[in-house]
Amino acid sequence: MPIEILPEQVSSAIAAGEVVERPSSVVKELIENALDANATRIEIEVEEGGRRLIRVSDNGEGIPNDELNLSVARFATSKLRTADDLNHIQTLGFRGEALSSIGAISMLEIASRSNKATVGALLKMEGGTAGEVESLGIPLGTQVSVRNLFFNVPARREFLKTDATERRWITALVTRYALAYPQVGFTLMQEGREVFRSSGSGDRREILAEIYDLDTAREMLRLPEGGPATLEIEGFISPPHVNRSNRRELTFFVNGRWVQEASLSAAVLQAYHTLLMVGRYPIVALFLTIEPEELDVNVHPAKAEIRFKDSGTVFAVVQRAVRAALIGQAPAPNVDFAQRWASKGQEVKGEVSADWSLWHDSEPSSIELEPAGQPTTLSSGNVPLLRPVGQVGASYLVAEGPDGLYLIDQHAAHERILFEQFMSANRSGELESQQLLEPIAVDFGPGEADTIEEQFDLLNNFGFNIEHFGPRTYRILAVPTMFLGRDPTELLRSVVGDFEEDESPLESEIEARIAARICKRVAVKAGQVLARPEQERLLRDLEACAAPRTCPHGRPTMIHISVDSLERQFGRR
Ligand code: ADP
Ligand code: MG
Repeated sequence: MPIEILPEQVSSAIAAGEVVERPSSVVKELIENALDANATRIEIEVEEGGRRLIRVSDNGEGIPNDELNLSVARFATSKLRTADDLNHIQTLGFRGEALSSIGAISMLEIASRSNKATVGALLKMEGGTAGEVESLGIPLGTQVSVRNLFFNVPARREFLKTDATERRWITALVTRYALAYPQVGFTLMQEGREVFRSSGSGDRREILAEIYDLDTAREMLRLPEGGPATLEIEGFISPPHVNRSNRRELTFFVNGRWVQEASLSAAVLQAYHTLLMVGRYPIVALFLTIEPEELDVNVHPAKAEIRFKDSGTVFAVVQRAVRAALIGQAPAPNVDFAQRWASKGQEVKGEVSADWSLWHDSEPSSIELEPAGQPTTLSSGNVPLLRPVGQVGASYLVAEGPDGLYLIDQHAAHERILFEQFMSANRSGELESQQLLEPIAVDFGPGEADTIEEQFDLLNNFGFNIEHFGPRTYRILAVPTMFLGRDPTELLRSVVGDFEEDESPLESEIEARIAARICKRVAVKAGQVLARPEQERLLRDLEACAAPRTCPHGRPTMIHISVDSLERQFGRR
């Protein structure tokens, strides 16, 4: 074929792929447009995870009627005039690509009225072809409706995840923008249900309570004021004991823009260094304001990537600010650890003095349980009959088997036992359910409610009986009999609790994953003293397991030191 310049319609469809990766990208672009138009109220409606409909309405400045047809043209913007303007961008948009991209791959309708006009106007576009502008009586502001996203891009449509997953992306996006713009009132409706609302009062803690829960919001630490004049940081970070098993709750906005920036995460995590266990991550929402000249925002069409001119300084300032907030808070992180190691009779008395070495970037002082030899943890196979010897640190059982010494992590072991009992009862249809005397209502945050919604049927087949009881409230009527006596709220919360890092709700083994989460929550904790009969019982149950050597999350339940290895260690061989 000879070389030819592609027709506009084809080139915008290609470009659209970079701007719009999934429904939440559309939501992001439309929210950014509303914010650029100084809206104080933004309402987002979503149907079928955004596939069927995304509608964003704002009360911003609106688009003048005679500019409406231009708004959907490629590289048409009211926010940038010269290439030099790129060096000091103050708005979220500037590429003039969003509406044209969205219009190229959906059925788009824009209705808008600016304060200069007494009537508004409506423009429709389908697969890149715009119709005539019609006049329409509407209130001040703009409403953009996007229907049948990717209807003409089958490859992209098939690539989309389940509705529930797309909804979760959208919820995460909207709640973050609400947190970044507390003075703007956001409302999110998914499938006709209001799942999130912020008042626009300007109070970030109030929004944190909406997103997480009241306790978390209360415990979040506010960053101290200050920092160099060129870089302002505001925001909230969680104290070390409030943590997650993945990085999803690390949020960064730079000049009002949500960015994915590895160096910012790294700075934060370094500040938490030694305060968090390996594999645990804090909840963080930081809002940086920096001179626009210090920043390149034109890295990618989706505008989620940025480059700092002086990334070293940014790193240091963020790291110091977070550290300062952490040090400012009272209890030392290792109190918990000390209590865990105190045995039942000798409670830790008075105040446990803070171990200040933990605040410095030294290696954590760890208590080594591993003996000098080479302990072996085996990944499969049954365990022999074990005789309990005792408990160490209220966390590990010591047991003797015919082939040597066993150290057993009581929590991991119990997780494994419960998991196998639960799964086998479920498989054989023997999972009994017990009606609660009093139904219990539980409230969830917007993201959490999505997860419950997604697992709703599964849970109801899992010995639970749960029903809808308000927009984000559920009522527990029954729980699996084997978990009777446990706090039903706790049980249900474990389902929405933080995911393991390697856990994806899309994996086929969804049942097993949910079961593993419930069992993790219910299992006996490290630090819990077990009486001899309880130790005995745990070992017997573990022996009965099909895969006794790992917990359902794949970590070892036991360390085995063979007779042979013991003899070698003591120089008997
Ligand atoms: P950009 O935001 O990069 O300028 P867009 O394609 O997103 O490009 O929007 C094109 C133009 O349409 C904007 O520059 C703005 O003038 C106008 N516009 C889009 N959405 C809105 C809105 N919600 N309110 C007011 N004007 C809008
Ligand atoms: Mg835009």
